[in-house]
Amino acid sequence: MSDRPTRLRIFGKEEATTRAGEPPPAGAPAENPYWLDEEPAPHPDPAKGCVRRGLCCRSSPGWFAPGEVEQAAELAGLTPDAFVRSRLVVDEVEVDGERVFAFAPVKLDRLGRPAWPTGSRVDALYRMLRGVCVFFDGGGCRIYAARPFECRAYVCTGPSRDDASHEAIGRLWRDHAGAERQ
Ligand code: SF4
Repeated sequence: MSDRPTRLRIFGKEEATTRAGEPPPAGAPAENPYWLDEEPAPHPDPAKGCVRRGLCCRSSPGWFAPGEVEQAAELAGLTPDAFVRSRLVVDEVEVDGERVFAFAPVKLDRLGRPAWPTGSRVDALYRMLRGVCVFFDGGGCRIYAARPFECRAYVCTGPSRDDASHEAIGRLWRDHAGAERQ
């Protein structure tokens, strides 16, 4: 048995199944499709800031702020529409009692497929499960120069008070939508 620490297990037992309930391909490890080992010891020196281990990128992709999707699409060589429909999902958060929507890169399942239909709104289970960001290539971010606001703010070794909360990002989207309506 592995002596690696694991911080979170969504299910008590890892099951040989995919989200759609299909059996995994022959030879695939019997594990939850979204499950990934996290946090190989030792934890790096917090003073080093981001050391590009990609732990956050292999866990839950960061949310874009208003105006960033266009920049990331340009970097990826796609129109914003094609970028959203092929790489992003729509998530939501409550801000002051109002539902606000925001774009985020889609997570991939264990077989490297989008774990949710791109261009559409995710559900609560998708939100809970972890998966590799579609833009993570194993050594870094493919859209690093135009990565989402949450990714730019987050450093795993830094204090959580410095992180960009989904509520704060949702506030940006709400204010952006309000300004566009005026
Ligand atoms: S967009 Fe880039 S920095 Fe953000 S989670 Fe994905 S790979 Fe990581």
